Amino acid sequence: MKLIVTGGAGFIGSAVVRKAVADGHHVVNLDCLTYAACLDNLASVAGAPNYVFEKADIRDAEAMARVFATHRPDAVMHLAAESHVDRSIDGPGAFIDTNVRGTYVLLEAARHYWVGQGKPQGFRFHHISTDEVFGTLGETGQFTEETPYAPNSPYSASKAASDHLVRAWGETYGLPYVLTNCSNNYGPFHFPEKLIPVVILKALAGAPIPVYGKGENVRDWLYVEDHADALLTVLAKGRNHRSYNIGGENEAKNIDIVQKICAILDAKRPKATPYADQIAFVTDRPGHDLRYAIDPTRIRTELGWRPSVTLDEGLERTVDWYLANEPWWRALQDRAGVGERLGVKA
Ligand code: NAD
Repeated sequence: MKLIVTGGAGFIGSAVVRKAVADGHHVVNLDCLTYAACLDNLASVAGAPNYVFEKADIRDAEAMARVFATHRPDAVMHLAAESHVDRSIDGPGAFIDTNVRGTYVLLEAARHYWVGQGKPQGFRFHHISTDEVFGTLGETGQFTEETPYAPNSPYSASKAASDHLVRAWGETYGLPYVLTNCSNNYGPFHFPEKLIPVVILKALAGAPIPVYGKGENVRDWLYVEDHADALLTVLAKGRNHRSYNIGGENEAKNIDIVQKICAILDAKRPKATPYADQIAFVTDRPGHDLRYAIDPTRIRTELGWRPSVTLDEGLERTVDWYLANEPWWRALQDRAGVGERLGVKA
């Protein structure tokens, strides 16, 4: 298949591009390279004959029309977004502009291209979204595809709005789409401002490891390469006009994730005092959702997909990757504001 992958220079997008190229798809990576992008994530595929990079902004209607006309894709996998919840609290405007208006512009480009091609039913607009659109759970229960939307942060509200646009373009114009809502990802190439890299890098820097509130918030963690595999499975086998929840079957409290990482570092990079001594509880994030958990029944029973990496395996692989790739994360910390924001700039 010929795929346009938006946001292919980001954390999850680059994992999708690497896997899709390895699987033999022809991949156009469409990315405008915000602060969160890193083309080094794609070094392993950069020279491949079935890989092309297009620097373009999903909010630019002319550029989107040109990219569709030039590359004539069989499908679009839409991952480009502003993705960091804390940044959405400090400055929500960029999230509305990229995640809502950008998705609208991309949908229109896809629709006009699809109509121009004679409305092939094999065409797919695959929108990649988050379980955060469902809001928060209490101590029990899981999100299903029928759970009502109740987003609590500017980020999740902007993603919820983009999900609704995709659904509306399907219902109103007939645009064939699939939609996926996934739990928290982690793994190699995760941008240094997200929880798991922050814990690893603060620990290595000998700095306080910040944990919101009492660390009681529960997330369902999915190894990023499993997510890429799930996305390509849904694209290939998912039913049109349908959403699929994707989860890791790995629920854990934030404090337990932090303790596990500290224990892995104690074994791999021992020092005089345990890394857990650096844990520092900080004021909770406003509107912080208590618990997310995915009911994966639909993707498992309809498409036969389930995650392959356990949380303990994935965390160990991730710590190993950060220990082996210091130049990668140092370069990103040196980017405007990121190191200072995290208080870990060397
Ligand atoms: P990321 O921030 O690492 O990457 C986003 C990419 O999108 C960057 O390369 C950036 O340059 C690009 N981009 C941003 N605005 C753009 C624009 N206007 N035009 C073109 N490119 C643009 O994000 P991520 O963590 O890889 O997440 C990817 C997608 O998956 C997002 O849509 C996010 O909502 C969703 N998602 C993320 C998670 C998670 O745990 N990270 C979980 C579920 C869903």
